[in-house]
Amino acid sequence: MTRKFSGDRLLVATHNKGKLEEIERLLEPFGVKVVGAAEMGLDEPEETETTFVGNARIKAHAAAKATGLPALSDDSGIEVDALDGAPGVYTADWAETPNGRDFVMAMTRTHEELETRNAAHPRTARFCCTLVLAWPDGHDEVFPGVIEGKVVWPMRGDQGHGYDPIFMPDGYDITLGEMDRWKKNEISHRADAFRKLVAACFD
Ligand code: IMP
Repeated sequence: MTRKFSGDRLLVATHNKGKLEEIERLLEPFGVKVVGAAEMGLDEPEETETTFVGNARIKAHAAAKATGLPALSDDSGIEVDALDGAPGVYTADWAETPNGRDFVMAMTRTHEELETRNAAHPRTARFCCTLVLAWPDGHDEVFPGVIEGKVVWPMRGDQGHGYDPIFMPDGYDITLGEMDRWKKNEISHRADAFRKLVAACFD
């Protein structure tokens, strides 16, 4: 049976400010106070799995055990069809540099790999998100979400985070980087997963 969330504090197991802000807004209507992992002084566990759900489970369970609070984690990334699903679970890794994450570099690599392969247009892709809500006793609930679209070039827009400037969702002629954040929160992969989470665990 699905376990409901009860309580008024939810730990969000992410150090990513962009994600934390999105999740905060998505949970605002339910009167849940969201606490970030950095605020609780938690370390980032190593993401050693090869699937979104595997990595999301690592993060949620580590945070729930460390704090005694129910913890929500999000593992997400972009899958580009002509790159055989890459960068996928390695989406953040493509941005890694010795001085922090560089998403212009990661987006440029995505585009260049598509060019090298002479990939046909439209360069279909999707953002995927897996949410895991874990409790300190080891129970969890898992919710996948997706938004379909294509990779475009050059980068456009400065509203979002990560790979938003090169992702144009189906049915739109602007990138997520050009889209108003409220609008993005209605249609994103995270919103899709959140609708399922809220329907199952918050009502
Ligand atoms: P992780 O889930 O923290 O391992 O990293 C997922 C990576 O995917 C992040 O570094 C983001 O750059 C990227 N990503 C996830 N969701 C989005 C999104 O909504 N827009 C842009 N990039 C995203």
